[in-house]
Amino acid sequence: MIRQGSDFIWMPSLGDGVLFALVGLLAWVATRRLRPERQWRVLLGALLFLSFTAWLFMYSPLHKGAALLLAAGIGVQLGALGPRLRRGLLARLRPAVLICCGYLVVTPLLIRAVRQVGERRRIAALPAGRAAAPNVLLLILDTVRSFDLSLYGFPRPTTPALDRWAKRGVVFDRAYSTAPWTLPSHASIFTGHFPDDMVADWRTPLGKRKRTLAEALREHGYLTGGFVANLYYCSRESGLARGFVHYEDYSLSAPMTVWSMSLGRTILGVPAVHRLVGMRDILARKRASDINRALLSWIDSRKGERPFFAFLNYFDAHSPYTPPAQYAAAFAPTEPRQNPQIETSLTWLEAEVERQHNAYDASLAYLDAQLDSLFGALDRRGLLDNTLIVLASDHGEEFHEHGVMGHGSSLYLPGIAVPLVLWGKGLPAGIRVQHPVTLRNIPVTVMDYLDFDGPFPGRSLARHWLAPQQAVANPDTVVSGVNFAPRLPESYPVGRGSLRSLVSGRFHFMMSSDLNEELFEIESDPWERHDLAKVARYQDTLAALRSELWSYLEHSDTVGAKHFLDRLPREPDDTARH
Ligand SMILES: [Zn+2]
Repeated sequence: MIRQGSDFIWMPSLGDGVLFALVGLLAWVATRRLRPERQWRVLLGALLFLSFTAWLFMYSPLHKGAALLLAAGIGVQLGALGPRLRRGLLARLRPAVLICCGYLVVTPLLIRAVRQVGERRRIAALPAGRAAAPNVLLLILDTVRSFDLSLYGFPRPTTPALDRWAKRGVVFDRAYSTAPWTLPSHASIFTGHFPDDMVADWRTPLGKRKRTLAEALREHGYLTGGFVANLYYCSRESGLARGFVHYEDYSLSAPMTVWSMSLGRTILGVPAVHRLVGMRDILARKRASDINRALLSWIDSRKGERPFFAFLNYFDAHSPYTPPAQYAAAFAPTEPRQNPQIETSLTWLEAEVERQHNAYDASLAYLDAQLDSLFGALDRRGLLDNTLIVLASDHGEEFHEHGVMGHGSSLYLPGIAVPLVLWGKGLPAGIRVQHPVTLRNIPVTVMDYLDFDGPFPGRSLARHWLAPQQAVANPDTVVSGVNFAPRLPESYPVGRGSLRSLVSGRFHFMMSSDLNEELFEIESDPWERHDLAKVARYQDTLAALRSELWSYLEHSDTVGAKHFLDRLPREPDDTARH
C-alpha cells in the first residue's frame, strides 16, 4: 500500500532538504582543496546522486542495488555540468529556494486548516443522537495473545490492572481472531465479516462494500474517533478510517519525517545501519501513553452532549519488543532486537527466544499500566458509568512453539487466541464465558447493546449470558484464515500456501491449500503438540470438522476462498485419500 498521510506531501521534502544540505556541506568541506571546477563537479554529482536515489527508491520493484548504480551513473554524467553551471548558480537558485521554503511553511498550515474545516463539516452533518446513549470504547491491543495474560491464568503478573477492571464485566476465555495479522482481523472487528467475505489482504486495503461499525454509529449520531499506533496496517490507507469523523495515525515528529522519506526508510532498514546507530526500535513508534493522551484530548475538546465511539489501537506488544526502561526487566532479562521486517528468516536459539518472550511480557506489563491509567482518567471524568468497553486483540504472537516467531505465518492457537472483555452499564459483572467465540461478532454485539438495528452479520455475544444453554447448543462458526504469503520463507506454513482453521468445541482443525490437515484437542493440549489428524479414533471428528470448514468456504465469495476451494477435491470423502 502506498503511504498517503496528508503530511507526506511536505515531510519528505523537508527531510530531503535537510539531508541534502548536510551532504552538500560535508562534500564542500571535503573537496575544498580541489580546483573549483572539480569541486563543483563533485558537489553537483553528489547531490544528483542523492536526488535520483531518493526518487528511484520510491519505485519498489526496482532492486535497491540497481537504483544506486543508476543514480551513481546519472550523478557522474550530469555532475560534469557542474563547472559550467557554477557562475551565477546561487543567484539563479535563490528564487527556487525561497519557493521551497514557502511551500514547507504554508503547506502544513494549509493541511491543518483543511482538516479542521472538513472535521467541522462532518460533525455538523451528523444526525441527532439519542439522548444519554452510551459511549462505546473499542480497545484493540495489537499482538496480545491471551496465553500471556494473568487475566487468563499466565503465572507472571502481566495484567494486574486488567484482572481487576475485567471483574466489572464479561471475560471470554476462548476468543479467536479471524486472522493472525492486523488488517483482516481489524476488518472483521469493524464489519462483522470473515476475511473470506471481503477485500482486505496483504497488499489490498479494506474495500468499500462492507459497512463498518464507525459508519453505522455515525449514522446514529455518534461522534467517531480513531487513534492508531499500528502505522503498517491501521493508517488511513488501510481503509479502516472509513466512518471516523476524526482519525489520528501519522504523528508530526522528526522520526516520522525520516520514516516518510524513501531514503530514510531504506537506509534505516539495513541491519548494519541499525547496529551502527544503536537503533533497537522501529522509527516513530507511538506508545500507549501517546494514544491515551490523544484520546483524552479529543474527548475533552468535544462540544455538546453527543455520545462517542472511539477506537484505539495500541502497538506496544508488537515486535521489536522495547518496553520502557522501568518495565524492561519486570520479569527476567530481555533482549530487544531489531526491526521485525528483517527478522523472518533468522534462526532462533532457545535462549534468544526466551529473552524475546521476557521482553514481550514486560511490554504487556507496560500496556496494562497504561490501560489502568486510561480507565482511571475516564472514571475521573465520570465517563465509565455510561461507556461500553470492548477490549480485545487483533491477533496473538508465536514464540517458536511451532518453529516460527511473530504472527501472520500460521494459525496455531498462540497466533489467534486473544483476550476479549466487555463491560458497561447493564452487562453482568464477574462472568467468564468458556465457549469458543469469534471476534467478528463484535459489531453486531455493540449494535445489540445499544438497541440499534444494524447491518452486521453474525450473532450478538449477549446470548452467552442471556441464554447460555442455547448458545452452547447452537455454537458460532469460529474460523480463522491467512492467505499465501509468497515473500515469506517456505519454512513458514503460510510461505507454502493459504491456511484455514476451525475451532469447534474442544477441537482445533487446520487445513492448508496444499491439503495438509492437522487436528488438536485443545482443552488438554493447548500448545498443540499432539496432532490427531492421522489417529484412527479421531477420523469421524476430522471428517465432521473438514465438512464444516468446507461448507464455510463454499459460502465465501472472495478470491482467497475460491483459490482454496479450487485445490480441494469436490467431495468431502475424497479428502481421506490425501
Ligand atoms: Zn496486529
